[in-house]
Amino acid sequence: MSRDALLKTYMDMVEDRTEGQSEFHQAVRHVAGDVITIEKAHKEYAAAKVLERLAEPDRVIGFRVVWQDDAGEVQVNRGWRVQYSNAIGPYKGGLRFHPTVSPSVLKFLGFEQVFKNALTGLPLGGGKGGSDFDPRGRSDREIMRFCQAFMRQLAPYIGPDRDVPAGDINVGSREIGWLFGAYKAHALEFTGALTGKGPSFGGSEIRTEATGYGLIYFLEAMLAEHGDDLEGKRIAISGKGNVATHAAEKAVAKGAKVITLSDTSGTLTAEDGLTQDTIDWVRARKAAGEDIAGAPHAEFAESASPWDQEVDIALPCATQNEMDASMARRLVDNGARIVAEGANMPLTSDAQQIIADAGLLHAPGKAANAGGVAVSGLEMSQNSHRRFASRQEVDDALKDIMRHIHAQVAEEGRQGNRVDYGRGANIAAFRKVADAITAMGAI
Ligand code: NDP
Repeated sequence: MSRDALLKTYMDMVEDRTEGQSEFHQAVRHVAGDVITIEKAHKEYAAAKVLERLAEPDRVIGFRVVWQDDAGEVQVNRGWRVQYSNAIGPYKGGLRFHPTVSPSVLKFLGFEQVFKNALTGLPLGGGKGGSDFDPRGRSDREIMRFCQAFMRQLAPYIGPDRDVPAGDINVGSREIGWLFGAYKAHALEFTGALTGKGPSFGGSEIRTEATGYGLIYFLEAMLAEHGDDLEGKRIAISGKGNVATHAAEKAVAKGAKVITLSDTSGTLTAEDGLTQDTIDWVRARKAAGEDIAGAPHAEFAESASPWDQEVDIALPCATQNEMDASMARRLVDNGARIVAEGANMPLTSDAQQIIADAGLLHAPGKAANAGGVAVSGLEMSQNSHRRFASRQEVDDALKDIMRHIHAQVAEEGRQGNRVDYGRGANIAAFRKVADAITAMGAI
């Protein structure tokens, strides 16, 4: 059978079983498209039905989260934990609190996480969780009560050797503190069952910065692979959160010009590059739950998009499917040559095709944004050893891991003097996960 026929048969099966889960189908299709012929050509992988197994998470735990708002009114939210695969280590992946959270979104994120975690070289399985809770407009005490109520439901299913959640959208170090406090009260023991903790109670140095910094280390490796560097490069970044602001900060420190940051209210632009002061201001506004209009030394426009600027490099760092086909076309017309994903699956399938047809280098999130989970993996080791590494040690380890990820991906994806990063990442990660699954038998 041809690759297209194999892929169609496989995706028909996946879509029949999981009707309406469009984000999940999108993520599975991208990986399967690159690896389905490898699976069929490899006797053990084919016999073990690795791809068919990977179309189904180990389990999806769903629960009701009941909490009281400041007025004393009872609020009811939905929560989930997708324990996708623990073939190469305990389930590991973030928690997201956002009204768009659904089983489809968490399954796509959990599926991607399995492959991302395999690329880090650390013993980490994949998972993801969260709730449709919207923290916008909620008081700090309401968010704390929500975190405690959420953890009351989740705690029985996690643990340092079972499943180790971390943060994601709207779950930062403050929320991890509240979640960890509730976990500890439930478990009656102090173990590293969450990562992203504060440094005074078991957290690792650099965890907060790791995804954004790691993205820039990966980007440097991409540029070096193609005989170039960051100095003077013009970069458009979307988002204003953890990943976006730390990527911006590291890029500026490395001599690049960051032209944009953005949120759902609009885009900030500075033709000569945003300064560290402006990035700090944006971070403070995000922490206060406010939008970014009125930033110092930058223009704000509701209707502008980061992809309308003339730049060399685009770093989408906001959310899934944030860049559609028309935005991708504008990005290409504006001369961009590289897209590296800080967010998970930020391009629609059509946008991906346009970027590929135009010959841009395109690094997928599972490789380029793996720095966060990598430092989470280091936090788990530090918790087990009860010995903590210095900021410099963790930063050096992060750089090594990102270079190692780049090397594996480039080796699988090299085509002449260019690298197909999407294909390289999918194949390198798949081999690792498939080897583990086949070694453990039909279980
Ligand atoms: P944050 O909650 O810190 O920030 C996300 C920001 O993105 C929000 O401020 C939101 O703006 C903005 N945003 C959402 N949609 C859009 C859009 N369409 N255009 C512009 N801005 C938008 O999240 P993180 O930085 O932690 O996560 C961002 C992405 O990175 C996600 O895809 C996440 O899964 C991924 N990621 C995060 C990791 C981590 O360590 N935190 C690790 C690996 C991946 P507003 O405030 O207006 O809603």
